[in-house]
Parts: sequence; structure tokens; C-alpha cells
Amino acid sequence: MTADGSLEVRRCETCQSRYLPTDGPCPQCGGLASLPLAVPPRGSVLAATELQYPAAGWTAPHPIALVEVAEGVRLLGIVEGPLPATGELVEVRRDGEVYRVRAAPRERGEGDSPKAGSAAPSFEPPR
Ligand SMILES: [Zn+2]
Repeated sequence: MTADGSLEVRRCETCQSRYLPTDGPCPQCGGLASLPLAVPPRGSVLAATELQYPAAGWTAPHPIALVEVAEGVRLLGIVEGPLPATGELVEVRRDGEVYRVRAAPRERGEGDSPKAGSAAPSFEPPR
């Protein structure tokens, strides 16, 4: 995590793909040359579930969510608090080797939402 709270993803220097994890090769072309790219620490939930049989070291139920942040980058995060609904806006923070997600505060402004997928963000007021 960067000092201002933004998330770091990578941008491939060869094919310009944006991706995670930050320490691997480009999943599109296998290129090893990449640059850091800071994105807002928010995204929308593509799916969320509670694992009843998580990997060793985690207690069940283990709530996780697949989240799409800006630039179309997707990550799997551990849910803190209630399990979010599909399409819900969440905050994302890196915690060592994992990402943690939680419901975003409602008062967060319009206009700074990540352009994630085609689902309309649920926090936008009706027109
Ligand atoms: Zn690439």
C-alpha cells in the first residue's frame, strides 16, 4: 500500500496490461518489465462468499470477495464486516500478502468511483 492509501497494480511495459499480483510476470504476455500504477483503493464486488473449508491457517467461515478496481484489475480479498452484495462498492487495502475489503462509506463522493465493469455502482443517486 502506498502512503496516500492508493493501491499499487502493475502496468506491463510490453503490452500495457494492468495486473496483479505485483511480483509476478504479466499474465497476458509473460513480460517481466512493468511499472507501478497507483489506483484508488476502491472497487466493486463481482462475487462474495464464505469458505467453509479455507486453506490451513484460516478459520471457517472465511469470507472472501472478488473485487474489480480501476483499470479492470481484479483481486481476491478477505472481507471484514458483513458479506458485501454483488455490485457493492468496497474499500480495499493491502495487508502484507493479502487484501482486505470492507463496505465503503456511503458519503464517499460521486465522480471518484472506479470504472469497474458494466454494473452501475449502487451508491449513485437516482437522476
Ligand atoms: Zn504484457
